[in-house]
Amino acid sequence: MANRLRSIAILTSGGDSPGMNCVIRAVTRSAIGQGIKVYGINRGYQGLINNDIHELNASSVGNIIQRGGTILYTSRCPEFMEKATRQKAAQILEDRDIDALIVCGGDGSFKGAIALNEEFNVPVIGIPGTIDNDLSGTDYTIGFDTAVNTAIEAIDKIRDTAQSSDRTFLIEVMGARSSSIALKVGICTGAENILLNTQKIEYQKLANDIRRGIRRGKNSSIIIVAEGEKPGRSYDIANVLEDMYHISSKVCVLGHIQRGGSPQANDRFLASVMGRLAVDSLINGETQGAIVVQSGDVKIVPLSTCSKKSDHAMESFIGVAEGLSI
Ligand code: ADP
Repeated sequence: MANRLRSIAILTSGGDSPGMNCVIRAVTRSAIGQGIKVYGINRGYQGLINNDIHELNASSVGNIIQRGGTILYTSRCPEFMEKATRQKAAQILEDRDIDALIVCGGDGSFKGAIALNEEFNVPVIGIPGTIDNDLSGTDYTIGFDTAVNTAIEAIDKIRDTAQSSDRTFLIEVMGARSSSIALKVGICTGAENILLNTQKIEYQKLANDIRRGIRRGKNSSIIIVAEGEKPGRSYDIANVLEDMYHISSKVCVLGHIQRGGSPQANDRFLASVMGRLAVDSLINGETQGAIVVQSGDVKIVPLSTCSKKSDHAMESFIGVAEGLSI
């Protein structure tokens, strides 16, 4: 296979995450170093079907390891759900003599990659890139650590003002269908409560917890809210606390700040290792797979292993959060 792999392409897709640039750099440099041409596809699958593709060289990816976002941009491409669109994509890759595709994204992007592979035999390797750490089959997705650290830094500042002004704060963190950020951030900021997006809110218990804290001398409470399917739901929760339990609170929705910023060491390191393994796997003849972290090992598994959302990586820590917030 080594002498048959002449060129590969890389794209970033779905929600962007800090560390995607480190993946692009690692893939590009690993491939060029082994005599393989590399093409960057702009704006994910949309750029692929628009033929928005350009060759990358070692300098194209210089000075990006520390930059958040993705130099290849990202997008969502609903047309890619259709087989005819995927056929067009496969044809464009063939016309350009691109032998394999590396996709960095979340479960949606992986579903697209699986379809492209199964229907049109395009060799595809997926690298998990999403701040939510919600992909089945891997303990870690690139961007999670940076997003968590960004949220922690912000919440530590909010804790200062909450403490100084005797306030309860509801702080909403990202994760449309995942509570991983909320759980890790909640544990790391010593939050009094964490409201997961899978749980029905038990308001009486929440009010009791806040009052119990006040009785034992706490003058501030931080409640972490996973945004769920309705970003901004913290305002509704604050209204219920006020109207039904006469507990006033302030709301802070952290929002897109969690997607940006310079990637933390964990994200830079894993992105570099995963990018390298993705290229080596293709050189070794793999035709589909996902690069994952399992029990500390970085390895390749069948792409289908990572096509679902899953909060598995953090579930076991729910009890820790509850036990430490008495
Ligand atoms: P993420 O990759 O972060 O989960 P999305 O779920 O938005 O983000 O998916 C990104 C893109 O992947 C979509 O815009 C679409 O182009 C492609 N995609 C998602 N689901 C599928 C699917 N079932 N079949 C084919 N392509 C898909």
